[in-house]
Amino acid sequence: MMARKTYIIANWKMNFTPGEASLYLHRLADKIPAMRNVQVVLAPSLISLQTLSLQINRRQFKLAAQNFYWRDYGAYTGEVSVSQIRGFVDYAIVGHSERRYVFNESDKDIAQKVAAAIRNGLTPVLCIGETATERRNGETNSAIYSQLLGGLSEVSEEDINKVIIAYEPVWAISSNKNARPANPSDIAEAQRVIRHQIAKLYGEAVALDIPILYGGSVSKDTAAGYLDIAGIDGLLIGGASLIADSFCAIVESAKGKYNER
Ligand code: PEP
Repeated sequence: MMARKTYIIANWKMNFTPGEASLYLHRLADKIPAMRNVQVVLAPSLISLQTLSLQINRRQFKLAAQNFYWRDYGAYTGEVSVSQIRGFVDYAIVGHSERRYVFNESDKDIAQKVAAAIRNGLTPVLCIGETATERRNGETNSAIYSQLLGGLSEVSEEDINKVIIAYEPVWAISSNKNARPANPSDIAEAQRVIRHQIAKLYGEAVALDIPILYGGSVSKDTAAGYLDIAGIDGLLIGGASLIADSFCAIVESAKGKYNER
């Protein structure tokens, strides 16, 4: 079987000024080669996107938006539309748990953002995942199903191949109190549930092909193990992406997967 591409996406969240982001990118650019099978994507703050887009070698890195408003233009004070940033980025993170639970984004908002990203030629990275309470109550699969159903509600059969899914159990994300990394067996089961739901919505072929990433407290020591899980096509990294040595080691693990083949 031909190996699929691996995605390593760095979510810098609300960290780094544009100057700091630019310096950090220089450090990463010295250490991370352009690779055919591993796509490294950086998601800086909106304020840094333009600077970094002028600085990056697009064969080495792509950029992602962490957030945007779904309408293309208009009287929406303080918002930035995806049509305003589409020249800078190729990917857009949508439905991150911090957007869902800190900023109260609903599945409807998320569906509109997924649609806006696709309409503007970007690849949405749709984040889904259950809370600790949902897992405790045995509602993990239903949370995954409803977030998928909601987030993809505006995506046609023609466009589904433009979407990446990131499974990020909320309890595993390092910014949460008592966060703990997920077990590989839980992640393997979640990706099976996600592919099953995608098959119901869009058919078996799409379900086999759609990239599914894992995110939640990934470190340089755990990355390789997560990348070995069948059906996991990459990682979404928060905290560890802010430390050059850790992030570069995680990218090395992804590269190592291909060297071993
Ligand atoms: C995230 O916020 O998407 C994330 C995965 O964060 P962390 O790696 O810090 O848990």
